[in-house]
Amino acid sequence: MIENKIKQIREDLNKYSYNYYVLDNPLISDFEYDNLYKELEELEKQYPEFVTPDSPTQRVGGISSGFEEVKHKYRLYSLDNTYNYEELRKWYEKITKEFGNNVELVCELKIDGLAIALTYKNGYFVKGATRGNGIVGEEITQNLKTIRAIPLKLFENADVEVRGEIYMPKTSFEKLNEENLLSGEKPFANPRNAAAGSLRQLDSSITAKRDLSMFTYTPIIERASKQPKSHWEGIEYVKELGFKVNPNIRLVKDIEGAIEYCKEWENKRFDLDYATDGVVIKVNRFDYQNELGYTSRAPKWATAFKFPPEEISTTLEGIELGIGKTGAVTPVAILTPVNLAGSVVGRASLHNFDEIKRLDVRIGDRVLIKKAAEIIPKVIKVVDSEEHESLPLYQVQKECPSCGEDLKEVEGEVNLYCLNPLCPAVLKAKLEYWVSKEAMDIDSVGPSVISKLYDLGLVKQAIDFYKLTIEDFLKLDLVKEKSASNMYNAIQESKSKPLSRFITALSIRHVGKETAELLTGEFPTLEDFKNADLERLSNIDGIGDKIAKNIYEFFHNEHNLFMLKEFENLGFKFENNIAQRTNELEGKTFVLTGTLQSMTRDEAGDKIKMKGGKTSSSVSKKTSFVIAGENPGSKLDKAKDLGVIILSEEEFLKLIGEV
Ligand SMILES: [Zn+2]
Repeated sequence: MIENKIKQIREDLNKYSYNYYVLDNPLISDFEYDNLYKELEELEKQYPEFVTPDSPTQRVGGISSGFEEVKHKYRLYSLDNTYNYEELRKWYEKITKEFGNNVELVCELKIDGLAIALTYKNGYFVKGATRGNGIVGEEITQNLKTIRAIPLKLFENADVEVRGEIYMPKTSFEKLNEENLLSGEKPFANPRNAAAGSLRQLDSSITAKRDLSMFTYTPIIERASKQPKSHWEGIEYVKELGFKVNPNIRLVKDIEGAIEYCKEWENKRFDLDYATDGVVIKVNRFDYQNELGYTSRAPKWATAFKFPPEEISTTLEGIELGIGKTGAVTPVAILTPVNLAGSVVGRASLHNFDEIKRLDVRIGDRVLIKKAAEIIPKVIKVVDSEEHESLPLYQVQKECPSCGEDLKEVEGEVNLYCLNPLCPAVLKAKLEYWVSKEAMDIDSVGPSVISKLYDLGLVKQAIDFYKLTIEDFLKLDLVKEKSASNMYNAIQESKSKPLSRFITALSIRHVGKETAELLTGEFPTLEDFKNADLERLSNIDGIGDKIAKNIYEFFHNEHNLFMLKEFENLGFKFENNIAQRTNELEGKTFVLTGTLQSMTRDEAGDKIKMKGGKTSSSVSKKTSFVIAGENPGSKLDKAKDLGVIILSEEEFLKLIGEV
């Protein structure tokens, strides 16, 4: 019967989804899941009378005109917090005075995300709201439904309310920011802002595209088969009901156990794929909690330990200007080296001249630098000092430090630019980019060789690499016969690299590796690029108008066309690569770790892409295979944890039919 069939698919999908998003234990591939989902979607379209509220198709909703305010049934209190272990001991002392020694505590990582409250009636998710001021929040039920870690239906017909934290994994945050940059949108400052911005979308289909998840940390059980007597039991119970709980939660017997937990996670937190800013410590027993009660703003039975911030002050010794391949000028702070979050830092980003002005940074200042786990260190402020006023104001440099030409403003960009096409710094940066891993991947030719080749006048632009002879390399200091021929061969061999690498290497503004791969999917030959019109370019999913315009202009510039012709004349062959492109690995994602014997990791990545597969730099539940070479890193452990299939180099070669 059709109703039974729909029910069966729905239950299967919910089971797969639960295993994937809540238990981190995928049972089937994304591909199989998507097919089953499409089948359900099709059947529900034909028989709408059998659609139920817990169907996975109900996760994507429509567009709302705004968010309504809702009063929380149970107030969401704040937490008192401290950076100090002594204060934790004092807090615990007050509690032991009432209940005697050995009051059990529960330690949880404090997730740096967005607090929300979810209401379930008869086992169904009926309402979800932001914390707001703790008394009144905003209803965002439809957007929360798109988050797969939130069950639409519990494993029991219970009435419960849970609180949890919505967060965006750091890897997803970085990816989203990269995409935002490419499409000309403003990047989010941190994963929490990205999660908040994603949740407060009026169009829930946008929320659905963002990789959000939730950890549940407060269960309020109104009507259910069990009535937990402690926080720990409550947490165990919500897991049974189908909620996702942070796996690092721990029950300890006293405050020393809690302090040990805090110390342990102060360093280990950087290995996590989500941001945490401290530890929440709760009295375990509910009867003790009730007796302790609340102050006007916070429970007396819980407190938060905050991790020390990843900031430190040091002296700004100077400001250097870095010139990128696009000519963009980036001021870099030169600092008295200092230890920050486990590494010695001697340089930090100052972004642009506006930032220097905004912070009023002067050379000789004491400055505060900060390292967020996912970002390079940056200067965040000047530390107040008496000397500051007596130091000279920073004078914005008007000329390029390399060629001396005036720096220019570019519409829509905050940086200043050296627009001199013959600027040595820009040319060298372009040449370095050409041989980089991301572009043509010619690793035997490093920056110092490039600098020497440039200074000798042998290479001014990328095309000159391909005109070099072995004798030319021997003109460089310290270069012997063997390395000269290695460099020569590596350059010649690069002529048969895939077109996407060539497009990347051209340094077209805002066209990086990912964009180039997107483009070559649509335009498989260089000829196609020359013929592409603006409309077709901007219609490609993932290519914004700005990028489309840059590409169009690049391929309609006479000088560039002449140069491309020259590359072709030198024997560059791209079409052949494209002809071999197949789709055997379509839908499969690979992660590479360790050293391979017969090829570099990048070459392996190219082979995967040639067969329609994808590569990723981090292991997740979505990874299909991890290819492990010699001395693999932590990615291998993660793959084992997640049960991802691990291939040796030989097994990989077999898979792609090369042995
Ligand atoms: Zn210059």
